[in-house]
Amino acid sequence: MLGQMQDWPLLVHKLIDHAALYHGDREVVTRSVEGPIHRTNYRQIHGRAKRIAKALDRRGFQLGDRIGTLAWNTWRHLETWYGIAGIGAVYHTLNPRLFPEQLVYIANHAEDRALFFDITFADIVAKIAPKIPSIKLYVAMTDREHLPKADIPNLVAYEDLIAEGDDDFTWKDFDENTACGLCYTSGTTGNPKGVLYSHRSNVLHGFIAGQADAMGLRNVDSILPVVPMFHANAWALAFAAPMTGAKLVMPGAKLDGPSICELLTTEKVTMTAAVPTVWLAALQYLEQSGTMLPHLKRVLIGGSACPRSMIETFEKKYGVQVVHAWGMTEMSPLGTLGTLKVGMDELPYEKQLDYKCKQGHAPFGVEMKIVNDENDELPRDGKAFGRLKVRGPCIAKGYFRGEGKDAFDEDDWFDTGDVATLDAQGYMTITDRAKDVIKSGGEWISTIEIENLAVGHPAVAEAAVIGVRHPKWDERPLLVIVLKKDQNATKEDLLKYLTGRIAKWWMPDDVVFVDEIPHTATGKIQKIILRQRFGDYRLPTIAAE
Ligand code: AMP
Repeated sequence: MLGQMQDWPLLVHKLIDHAALYHGDREVVTRSVEGPIHRTNYRQIHGRAKRIAKALDRRGFQLGDRIGTLAWNTWRHLETWYGIAGIGAVYHTLNPRLFPEQLVYIANHAEDRALFFDITFADIVAKIAPKIPSIKLYVAMTDREHLPKADIPNLVAYEDLIAEGDDDFTWKDFDENTACGLCYTSGTTGNPKGVLYSHRSNVLHGFIAGQADAMGLRNVDSILPVVPMFHANAWALAFAAPMTGAKLVMPGAKLDGPSICELLTTEKVTMTAAVPTVWLAALQYLEQSGTMLPHLKRVLIGGSACPRSMIETFEKKYGVQVVHAWGMTEMSPLGTLGTLKVGMDELPYEKQLDYKCKQGHAPFGVEMKIVNDENDELPRDGKAFGRLKVRGPCIAKGYFRGEGKDAFDEDDWFDTGDVATLDAQGYMTITDRAKDVIKSGGEWISTIEIENLAVGHPAVAEAAVIGVRHPKWDERPLLVIVLKKDQNATKEDLLKYLTGRIAKWWMPDDVVFVDEIPHTATGKIQKIILRQRFGDYRLPTIAAE
C-alpha cells in the first residue's frame, strides 16, 4: 500500500521561492568584486534569478546543459545558481585556484555550454576560452561599465542579461532526481572527477545542514560563508540560509583576515564557516589589532583538521563556539559535525575539547563504517582505525561519466580515502588520508594528530608531517614547520613540546623549517609536493642506527 501524501518534488529553486515569499526583505550583503558593499534581499534575488533563467531559456539552454561559474561568493553568483537550476540546467562550479590547464580539462570534460565569471578572472578566461569549444556564451558578472577589455568571445555583461527581459518566468518542471550541480574534486588519484548533485540531494542536504545539532541555522542568524561556492556547495549555506531566511553576508574576492573580520563586525555576523587556514590568518589579525568579535556566536571549521589551539582560542578568548566538521565534495559535502552531545557540556573543559577536536558525529542521512584491508567492519571503540566508508541520500553513487568506479562498492558504500576511528558515542576522528598515513615498523602513525599538536606551539604558524624513508622502520615522520612572523623556535623546542603529548615512537625523527607549505586549490596541505621535496631527505636517526 502506498502512502497518500503529495508528491512535492524537492527542487532547489523552491528554496528561493520560499525565501522570497516568507523572508523577502531579509538582506543579502556582498563585498562586491567591483569594490563597494552591495545590499539586496531574497525577493530581489528571486526576481533576478528568474530573469537569468528567462535569458538562458531564450538562448536555447535547456535541461541537463552544464553552465560553468568561475566566481566568488556574491549575490550574483547566488542568482546564477538559482536561475540555472530553475531551467533544469546544471551549475558547474569551477575553482579559480586551479591551474588554467586543469580548468580547461574540467570544462571540456563537463562540456560546459556557457561560463559566468567574475571580472577578477577575465584574464584567465581569455586564456582558456580558445581551448573550450563547447562554451558558446561568456557572461561577465558585472555591469556594462565594468565589462573587461580582455579578448573573450560572445561576451555579455550580467546586468545586460538581467535588463533584457522581466521576471515573469515559470520555473521548468522536472523530476527531483534531475541533475542540478556539478563540482570536480581533485581529492582522488588521477584526473579530477565530477560529482553530480541532484535537486533532491541539494534540498535534503540543506535540511540536514540546518538541524540544531548540525549547523543550527535560524532566521535570526546572519551568516558569512567564507567557504567558497566553488568548494563543495559552500557547505550547503547557499541552500540552507534561504530555507530559514537567515541573512547572508558574501565576502566576494577578499578572504584575508582584516576583510573577513570587518564583515563579521559591520554585518553583525552570528555564524560563519571556513577552512582552518582562513582562521589562522583571521586570528593573527585579531590578536595584532586587539579586535573582539561581539556578535559572532558560532564558527564552523572543516576542510582539513582544526587544531586544538584554534578551538581553544575562539572559545576562550572570543567566546565563539567552534563546530568542527568533516566532509567531502562527494558528500555534498557535510559528513560529520562536532556539536556536543548530552552531558558533555558538564565535563571539564579539556575533556570537552577532546570531543571538539574529533571530526564529529553523523547527522541523520550519513551512514559511516570503518573497515580493514579485507573490507571487514572494525569495532566502534575509538581505538581501531581503518578506511572510512559512507553512504546516504546526499552522497555520490558514482563520478560523472562513470569514472573512478573503484571508490564505490555494490552496496553503495563510498570509500572516502580517509583513515579514521569511530567511538562508542558516534564521534569520528580522522587520523589521515590513506595515502598520507605513515607506516613505521608496520604500525600507523597519525600525521594529523602530530600536526595539530605542533601548531599549538606559540611560535608555529603551520605544520605538516610526512613519512621519509628509513632502512629499519620503512618510514619515519619528518615534521615540516612554518614559523609565525618574528617568532623563533628550534628543533629541540618543538620536540620537547611534543614530548608527553604523543607516543614516543610517534616522535618525529627530525624537524625542518620552511618559508611556506604548499596548499591545494581547496586549502589542504599538498603532501605530495612535500614528499617530492623531501624525497631524498636523510634523517639524522639513520646515521645513529
Ligand atoms: P574536499 O572534497 O576537497 O572537501 O576534501 C575532502 C577531504 O578533506 C576529506 O576526505 C578529508 O581528507 C579532508 N577533510 C575535510 N574535513 C576535514 C576535517 N575536519 N579534518 C580532517 N580532514 C578533513
